[in-house]
Amino acid sequence: MEEHLSRRRFIKLAAVAGGATIAGFDLSVRSWVTQAQVQTPSFQSIPKLDGALLFDEVSRQAIAVDRGNLFHRLPAAVLRPGSVQDVITMVQYANQHALKIAIKGQGHSPYGQTQAEAGIVIDSSTFGAVHTPTLESVDAQCGALWGEVATATLPKELTPRVFPATCMALTVGGTLSVGGHGSTSHRYGAQVDNVTELDVVTGDGRLVTCSPAHESELFNMVLAGLGQCGIIVRARIPLIPAPSHVMLHNLLYTDLDNYLKDQLRIAADGRFNSQRGLMSRNQEGKWSFTIEVGQFFSPPTEPNLAALEAGLQFASATAPVSMTYREYLYRFEARNATQPINRPSPYLTLYIPASATKEYLSHIFALSPERARLPQTNGVETFSCSPLNTRRFTCPLFTVPTEEQAFSVWLFRSVDPGDQAALSAVLASNRALLAKMTELGGKRNVPNSMVLSHEEWKAHFGPNVWQRLSKAKQKYDPKSVLSPEPAMFSDHKESSDA
Ligand SMILES: Cc1cc2nc3c(=O)[nH]c(=O)nc-3n(C[C@H](O)[C@H](O)[C@H](O)COP(=O)(O)OP(=O)(O)OC[C@H]3O[C@@H](n4cnc5c(N)ncnc54)[C@H](O)[C@@H]3O)c2cc1C
Repeated sequence: MEEHLSRRRFIKLAAVAGGATIAGFDLSVRSWVTQAQVQTPSFQSIPKLDGALLFDEVSRQAIAVDRGNLFHRLPAAVLRPGSVQDVITMVQYANQHALKIAIKGQGHSPYGQTQAEAGIVIDSSTFGAVHTPTLESVDAQCGALWGEVATATLPKELTPRVFPATCMALTVGGTLSVGGHGSTSHRYGAQVDNVTELDVVTGDGRLVTCSPAHESELFNMVLAGLGQCGIIVRARIPLIPAPSHVMLHNLLYTDLDNYLKDQLRIAADGRFNSQRGLMSRNQEGKWSFTIEVGQFFSPPTEPNLAALEAGLQFASATAPVSMTYREYLYRFEARNATQPINRPSPYLTLYIPASATKEYLSHIFALSPERARLPQTNGVETFSCSPLNTRRFTCPLFTVPTEEQAFSVWLFRSVDPGDQAALSAVLASNRALLAKMTELGGKRNVPNSMVLSHEEWKAHFGPNVWQRLSKAKQKYDPKSVLSPEPAMFSDHKESSDA
């Protein structure tokens, strides 16, 4: 018997579905059937839903796209849930009919992780509610954007400890399923280190509330768990007092040693609330290095930057700019809005041990602009490189190097649509950079690290964590219906060099 709906059968059915209503699933031929075909004895009708299960071409095509534009796997149906019960119902339905089911936030993960060929993809955008915050925490549904969390908490002068560093349009469920890195992570770790409770629909279709104290293994295996054991439907995010203003400016370096040393020093002593790093190459091929530092404050008392910057060895600095905390959180949104979203984008994000970072960077600096394919503004190429204190990243599935400090390196590489030769060259370069990373004791950031084989996943997590994750997968998703991408537990049959 076919394990999944074949592509040919599906296309035929989709054509039918254009003019007829899908009524259910036929177990004998493993295919969705229309109202006119319901007489078959093995027909199983679609359960009653509060939201909608969509079969039309436009909805299925739209959900099969992500920011990478590298994979395009068409699902058989799109679930726009009207309630948590809809998610439970459809996960149970997927179990009964051996269908795969995945969930998509805003699709920023670039390697097809939100897709389910011939399966069902849940569109989390109908789960966008953020509850009224208490003094301690706020509850958000999985499809809420982090910008919507800010809109709910800032009027109460409260904030999560970590927002995403560069994009407020990421979803709560999406970043909690991959890790979530912010400009305050040097102090507080990742977003997955800053959540106290989750409601999860497990792969066997149960709604479970989990936390460090209750159902803790599910909690640990869902955070940064890429949707393998459960679908997060609600997260409780702890809050702290929000600053009203931020003083932000750039420390500029031409000497790489000074730059790396100061980055690590600032991260270790936590003297600034906000810290990010940027590497830039001008048209003459010269690299320069920036640390964006931000200090939270409440006017009229302004931070004493001279005292904060004592002992640092930057060559020059930009003038400090004072802005509201909200303006600070949204400072990259105007730029994000101008980014083309149709370019094939094999992004790469890596964590490199601090002691090996200089050597590692030399491999990136050696790439010509044509090979590097980094984002450019007025001919200046950039990538970000920020320090982390690894001990603050405590979530078992968010894997970082063993050294106390490391750097995260974010290469937002992309090529022109249709330029296959350039794409192949970037993919080959990504593989080479990943191999070098492994050799130097680095770790990959999983949403942005190419398609991994089963063996590579095992190596990524290491034997202990892999064993825990495999056990949790068996326990919470015994029929393996959830999140076929990434194919962690079995290699893809199709070959791909991404
Ligand atoms: C422009 C841009 C800016 C970025 N900025 C940052 C940043 O500042 N910080 C950072 O850490 N990362 C960043 N990323 C990287 C990363 O891709 C995203 O953090 C991540 O993909 C979340 O985005 P999303 O909400 O669109 O989730 P998606 O990409 O839609 O989903 C991410 C993964 O989680 C799964 N998933 C989604 N929702 C759920 C759920 N409710 N339950 C279980 N699994 C779920 C998906 O199936 C998928 O595997 C950025 C990426 C881009 C393209």
